Amino acid sequence: MLISISPEAPESTRAAIFLAAAERGFRTQAMGNGRGGEVLAIAGTLAPLPGDLSGIESILPIHKPYMLACREARSSSIVDVGGVMIGGGSPVIMAGPCSIESRESLVDLARSVRTAGANILRGGAFKPRSSPYSFQGLGIEGLRHLAEAREATGLPVVTEVMEPEQVDVVTMYADMLQIGSRNMANFPLLKRVGQCTTPVLLKRGFSATLEEFLMSAEYVMASGNPNVVLCERGIRGFDAAFRFNLDLNIVPAIKEVSHLPVIVDPSHGTGRRSLVKRMAMAGLASGADGLMVEVHPIPEQALSDGYQTITPDELAQIHRYGLAIHEALAGMDDADDAQSDIQMPTIASLRDEAPVALSA
Ligand code: PEP
Ligand code: MN
Repeated sequence: MLISISPEAPESTRAAIFLAAAERGFRTQAMGNGRGGEVLAIAGTLAPLPGDLSGIESILPIHKPYMLACREARSSSIVDVGGVMIGGGSPVIMAGPCSIESRESLVDLARSVRTAGANILRGGAFKPRSSPYSFQGLGIEGLRHLAEAREATGLPVVTEVMEPEQVDVVTMYADMLQIGSRNMANFPLLKRVGQCTTPVLLKRGFSATLEEFLMSAEYVMASGNPNVVLCERGIRGFDAAFRFNLDLNIVPAIKEVSHLPVIVDPSHGTGRRSLVKRMAMAGLASGADGLMVEVHPIPEQALSDGYQTITPDELAQIHRYGLAIHEALAGMDDADDAQSDIQMPTIASLRDEAPVALSA
């Protein structure tokens, strides 16, 4: 059951609801509703409600099972990652190597991706590899390199955490915790990152349904952390020509049912360098709030995922054309825009424009 209370509601309203729920043995979780008030998510139905409650805006006894992540709970959320707003209207680009390789290479690449328009630096220190014989990442040393790259460029950093026991150390260095596709349903890990305030980037399991994906987000939120960003990164298809199939249906489908920001990863989603730019554009056209892209100065020499990694120059193109796509489609979902005369940017204007930070 979801109860929205207004900013003016007296504390007694909140207290009475918490008490009534506790008496019935129902857990209650409070979250800001994006309009100054709060939504109380109760794991059960209080009927009747305690009397004399003022300041209640709405009561929803029936809702999606992901009651904190559902759109009924609140207006679209914006997640603040070290000062970069995800979901605030401007698409955000997270870019960097699949794996952190050395301090120098990471700092150099961080500078290059920033120049190319990236807002957040990505890089894996703890790597989930398909083979135990492949490079497993630099671990804590990699986290230190990330922090130095942030220091050198001012870019916030996102990196993967694979085990509940790693969460403390990763939060010491990272501005955002990435939960990898293979761990989307690792419930102890989701609960553990839910106890932090550090934002979480939750990647979709490659055979997870929309509801399973949102229920995993719910685990994080129900544990106390509302700062969740979802990432579509490709699902398993039948065609061996592709490592994964980027499932862009899910972006507008999530927007229909959830308030959480969604980004798209066209690197893992295609598994092929030559497809990344186009699918990045498609991701933004599908309504994503940003992109995560694997970048390396010499992709062929990357220690992991080089075959799906692009160069900083290609990232600059994604940034420039992506901004134009985003602008061209802004307002498309507003009902009163259906008849409007859309001013498409011209190719000439695209070529002339200097790179601009997308979320500046
Ligand atoms: C990654 O981002 O490098 C990664 C391992 O992603 P995923 O969990 O989507 O495979
Ligand atoms: Mn990778």
